[in-house]
Amino acid sequence: MLKLENVQAAYGNILALKGVSLEINQGEIITLIGANGAGKSTTLMAISGVVPCRSGKIRFQDREIQNMTSDDIVKMGLCQVPEGRHIFPQLTVQENLDMGAFLRNDKAGIKKDQEYVFDLFPILAERRHQDGGTLSGGEQQMLAMSRALMARPELLLLDEPSMGLAPLVIKQIFEIIKQINKENNTTIFLVEQNANQALHIADRGYVIENGEITLSGFAADLLTNQDVQKAYLGI
Ligand code: ATP
Repeated sequence: MLKLENVQAAYGNILALKGVSLEINQGEIITLIGANGAGKSTTLMAISGVVPCRSGKIRFQDREIQNMTSDDIVKMGLCQVPEGRHIFPQLTVQENLDMGAFLRNDKAGIKKDQEYVFDLFPILAERRHQDGGTLSGGEQQMLAMSRALMARPELLLLDEPSMGLAPLVIKQIFEIIKQINKENNTTIFLVEQNANQALHIADRGYVIENGEITLSGFAADLLTNQDVQKAYLGI
């Protein structure tokens, strides 16, 4: 579904991605783990067209997207939930969800998807007339994921959904990521510093260090890999 070949991306003189290659198949949950500053967010932003690719190729659904605009990439079915959520704090929950569907005009489908996200996160239905900025961190994460789901993505990119949340809320968010993947057949690319939780729900994983993929494999194998345990799992 998605293939990165030797992707480089830079901020001025800082080469943040030094030739990243990876592949995601339809229906998978793939995680990208790595330390602070390793290049995880840059990888997602290069895929979604927010950060330009300096070289290399990104294929999504058999089309090269590395030179496409973010809007066109969203229209193709690839949607990102950025680090730090970035919901619209002065818009209500309902208005935030409406923004997620702004590229669609199939009213019946939009209504159905809204019912689906309210089923996933009943608290958002309760708070639908409340401003986004008044929600807790966990609720804002739920809203950011729901807003992305309102675009009906084939591939959902999640950047550190667990960041700054309490353990119980993190557990709930990870359960729901699994549920979205199973029920909707939405393919998930999950960037996480919380390697343990991420590898427990993922099918496969990639490890990124200093802008380069240094290891990849089945999540179950990465969980028992001694280097991964030492560097990312605190074992
Ligand atoms: P984190 O977990 O802290 O978000 P990350 O693995 O997502 O880290 P990136 O944010 O992709 O890492 O950063 C990769 C490299 O690019 C780092 O060296 C970082 O300092 C640099 N970088 C990221 N954003 C910018 C920017 N806007 N301007 C300049 N350098 C940047």
